[in-house]
Amino acid sequence: MKVFNSLTRCEEPLKPLADNTVRFYTCGPTVYNFAHIGNFRAYTFEDILRRVIQFNGMKVKQVMNLTDVDDKTIRGANAAGVPLTDYTKTYKDAFFADLKKLNIESAEMYPAATDHIPEMIDLVQSLIDKGVAYKSDDGSVYFSVTKFPGYGKLAHIDFDNQRTGARCAADEYDKENVGDFALWKAWEESDGPVGWDSPWGRGRPGWHIECSAMSMKYLGETFDLHTGGIDNLFPHHENEIAQAEASTGKEFVKTWMHCAHLKVNGEKMSKSAGNFFTLRDLIEKGWSGREIRYVLVNAHYRQGLNFAFSALEDARKSLSRIDTCVEALEKLAAQTAAADAPEFAVKALEDFSVAVNDDLNIPKAFAALFELVRHANAWMQGDAQPAQAAAVLDVFKRMDSVLGVIFFGKAEKADVPAEIQSLLDQRAEARKAKNWAESDRLRDEIAVAGWIVKDSKDGQSVTKK
Ligand SMILES: [Zn+2]
Repeated sequence: MKVFNSLTRCEEPLKPLADNTVRFYTCGPTVYNFAHIGNFRAYTFEDILRRVIQFNGMKVKQVMNLTDVDDKTIRGANAAGVPLTDYTKTYKDAFFADLKKLNIESAEMYPAATDHIPEMIDLVQSLIDKGVAYKSDDGSVYFSVTKFPGYGKLAHIDFDNQRTGARCAADEYDKENVGDFALWKAWEESDGPVGWDSPWGRGRPGWHIECSAMSMKYLGETFDLHTGGIDNLFPHHENEIAQAEASTGKEFVKTWMHCAHLKVNGEKMSKSAGNFFTLRDLIEKGWSGREIRYVLVNAHYRQGLNFAFSALEDARKSLSRIDTCVEALEKLAAQTAAADAPEFAVKALEDFSVAVNDDLNIPKAFAALFELVRHANAWMQGDAQPAQAAAVLDVFKRMDSVLGVIFFGKAEKADVPAEIQSLLDQRAEARKAKNWAESDRLRDEIAVAGWIVKDSKDGQSVTKK
């Protein structure tokens, strides 16, 4: 398995440092709003990455942080007049619900920044002790970029010395404004009730420090892989490296991977241009999580993705082609044990494997899958046998362990419309609260809409009447 490392700008083999386990850290959402489809492009890319690692027989330990304190969350909570934790909880919950809709596998851990303030304080203190950070007059602590010789190595920029000495208090800034960045921000009026005591007085962490502190806590001082959207590369990831390496004196991360931007109909997504979509917006328009996932993953992650409604329509057609083929194979196989796969299926799986291991070339992997569909359809017109059909189905399953878009057992599972899913979610909540009357009422409401709910130890499932 080879991937493109943003640090070396080369394609390199991805081999775990220890235990056949790839330890990787993913910058997660800032929970101040519903995540938009540009954010989900990054999360689906990381999902494909972890699935390809597992496809290759390696294990993963993925840690994704939740940024629940920063400039944006504080502004949002104070504007709404609610405590920070209440404000961010809404968006944390929404985020996890959205991940499910996109069939994104859960990371092993989702640490929240506000649960790790002591770790961040320790890290800031160690940077002060090492002489690479200093306290300013207002009680904030800054990282001195001139004291860390490797600064700029990820973004591949040589910073001219004239800009050094300037300070930037904001969490986000561009290369033009590079300067010493905030590790700890002294409390100010606009922070309202948000703040923690520290050796430098009351304040709160800067955004960048949380990722260095939490990644090293859970993955070690040196770990395999760190990912994010290209927007994170500078200054966020550059600063993460500076904080971690200046503190430990060790290499922080072996491989860095970044996914490119998403545009909508060729334009940068923005609220003012009217082309800004959350996942919820698209689901309300009648698209399923699976169709949206298909569009998000079916472009090479290092190339810009142009999101268009025509692409969703194409996704619907392509998925229906796959479904029809898989359904026919399932009927033919009818629980028979798999024999050896026919030659065309072996070849398709080989091509698929080469594609995903070549820096996650998912468009090429889909091409291999559609070759399989084409051959299987023709083959089923001839002398296809049940045991071989079962083997072809296994190849589809193996491919889908990476892609995560195929429905197997279609007679059982159908694409669940958003309104039914919403009723199911409410019913799950009711059952969690042991509100059986409400659970039964929702079951009836779902039945009236034409769906039957089944409960099992894995939770609820629905089938169309
Ligand atoms: Zn981060």
